[in-house]
Amino acid sequence: MSQNLLKTPIEYLKGVGPKLGDLLKSELGIFNYEDLLNFFPNRYVDKSKYYKIKEIVSVSTEVQIIGKITKIREIKQKRGSRLVAFFEDETGQLELVWFKGIKWIKERLKINESVVISGKPSSFNSKVNISHPDIETLEKHKTQKLSPLQPVYPLTEKLSGRNVNQKYYRKLFINLFTQIKDIRSEEVFSEPIVNKFKLLDKKEALFNIHFPQNVNKLNHAQYTLKFEELFYLQLAMLVKKKLRKHKYKSYAFSNVGLFFNKFYNESLPFELTGAQKRVLKEIRNDLGQPVQMNRLLQGDVGSGKTIVALMSILIAIDNAFQATIMAPTEILAIQHYNSIKELVEPLGLKVKLLTGSTTKKNRTILHKELENGELHILVGTHAIIEDKVIFKNLGLVIIDEQHRFGVAQRAKVYKKNVFPPHVLVMTATPIPRTLAMSIYGDLDVSTIDELPAGRKPIKTVHKKDANRLGVFGFIRDEIKKGRQIYIVYPLIQESEKLDFKDLMDGYESVSRSFPLPEYQISIVHGKMKPADKEFEMNRFAKGETQIMVATTVIEVGVNVPNASVMVIESAERFGLSQLHQLRGRVGRGAEQSYCVLMTKDKLSDDGQLRIETMTRTNDGFEVAEVDLKLRGPGDVMGTQQSGVLNMNIADIAKDSKIMEYARFAAQKTLEKDPDFNKTENKNIKIKFEELQRSKLSWSRIS
Ligand code: ADP
Ligand code: MG
Repeated sequence: MSQNLLKTPIEYLKGVGPKLGDLLKSELGIFNYEDLLNFFPNRYVDKSKYYKIKEIVSVSTEVQIIGKITKIREIKQKRGSRLVAFFEDETGQLELVWFKGIKWIKERLKINESVVISGKPSSFNSKVNISHPDIETLEKHKTQKLSPLQPVYPLTEKLSGRNVNQKYYRKLFINLFTQIKDIRSEEVFSEPIVNKFKLLDKKEALFNIHFPQNVNKLNHAQYTLKFEELFYLQLAMLVKKKLRKHKYKSYAFSNVGLFFNKFYNESLPFELTGAQKRVLKEIRNDLGQPVQMNRLLQGDVGSGKTIVALMSILIAIDNAFQATIMAPTEILAIQHYNSIKELVEPLGLKVKLLTGSTTKKNRTILHKELENGELHILVGTHAIIEDKVIFKNLGLVIIDEQHRFGVAQRAKVYKKNVFPPHVLVMTATPIPRTLAMSIYGDLDVSTIDELPAGRKPIKTVHKKDANRLGVFGFIRDEIKKGRQIYIVYPLIQESEKLDFKDLMDGYESVSRSFPLPEYQISIVHGKMKPADKEFEMNRFAKGETQIMVATTVIEVGVNVPNASVMVIESAERFGLSQLHQLRGRVGRGAEQSYCVLMTKDKLSDDGQLRIETMTRTNDGFEVAEVDLKLRGPGDVMGTQQSGVLNMNIADIAKDSKIMEYARFAAQKTLEKDPDFNKTENKNIKIKFEELQRSKLSWSRIS
């Protein structure tokens, strides 16, 4: 049987025709039989079970309920409108909500007729609702004899407008499987992989995705197809990584010399942690090769990335190269500058700062010193990547908090020498392992997974706004002990004005409770001039002020070891990774530190979970895992460019185990047979090359 049958244009399938064919193409990207075969349901409904409304308060899966719609209301909103139908059974009431296709749905909803609805309940303001449910009259529902597991496929407004619905899809798939019943299964793996990972036959897997025979079969089918998808994702990453190593020549730093050794033996302010030593070794090893290093250094806040960066810089200088550190904000750049200067000036090295507020006069001098090689280290903001900043011999670029830099900006630093300099990207936003494997699959990753000894874990507590007096009392006690305090207010772009008012109101109330001259308060926010910001930051850093009231501008990197309390106002409005970042501003000294999460009285489910996670754990990786599950990979930094969102069936957040198997299998395959020349890997070769060619699904992995 010819596989070409799968390439038959979709309009030739019974039940489609030219008009619907065009719609399937434009709306869903389904051009041929194969595309339809790979058009997967986004969920399944268990048609053998019915729920009562009062049972579903705590249910988060798909439910099916028998009841009646009692009234309908269209609610006009600023952006579009919303259709609400009140639905009840003998145990209670809930709301059905539509945001799209309102007109079409409104005409078809029947009042006071027994219907069966299905969908996923959620709660908002303690009311249960189901958005975009499927509705069927009870009468019709009863006459159907269907497998208890019903696939639910995505619909669009235009498709609904053409009467495409779940039943229509079902018919299409019956026709499709009738057409292809003689076709043999497309093998995409080698025998050993199929056996070792217990994969289902491909055709059987596809059949069970569309017509699940039972839950076990469905699970097995999903596992098989997810494995396939993730295997080829990982294979592409690993091949790309290998190619990059061939492609980008760079400078081999073969000496670890005077500066490094002198610093290590004489000026190192503390014993390195085991993790710091390990990652430093990984970096040294990379720098010794004539191939560009592209390494991500991840480590929780306070894990000591800066010293690792600095020692990498010393290796570059030992080999007569210059190095630069880019930070996302001026405050951070200044901090890096100060701490690095302090450490390297005793070695006789010259370091300078370049930011948007560097004066023209200083800039001219700096440019000259960079070009003639007098300057060893340049610290700064993105001002560094401007074309007019020319180095004599740049060998190493360190990018702090990389997610704040765009890909294009990063590419610019590659051009600052004849060969691209080595790149070390540092991030304190721990990325869950599985996500790192996908986004950074082609980067090398070093992880500092150990905090310096002697740190006391930060105690995190949750306080409602009503307890503010108690919190202020606690702050007073800490200040008496000589500690310093941060109080942070949210700043969310959309309502900047309101946020700013919150900050100012907060500042006023803090000023009243902590009056001069006994208490000195600093304030820092995004609207201040950089020089004023720096002045205030410095006052706080020097201990001249006891309280720092700020927006999230202090989020990244700021280091004031004597600060022991972080109060986060309206903590429910922050994302988890941001909360964790903020918390990381304290706990940097020897004293017990605290993080106080202030919230309003009532929290959403997500808000509650975020706060609970923060009070439960200090482990950034654990926080990141929860964050990923809550928000999905779409909102986690860096995923947009990575292609992980183009997954057809796998879910990066949920399928971490399968991802690990798939990565392992891909690694082993490449190790044993890098060019897929063995006969057992014939199918892998064909599939891999086909995927590489089809820009459609893979072009965004770059
Ligand atoms: P981050 O990884 O968040 O950038 P830093 O590099 O700012 O962390 O380090 C946080 C603090 O810990 C700094 O004050 C630094 O001097 C200190 N530090 C780093 N490494 C060690 C270590 N091995 N032992 C003790 N203190 C350390
Ligand atoms: Mg840092």
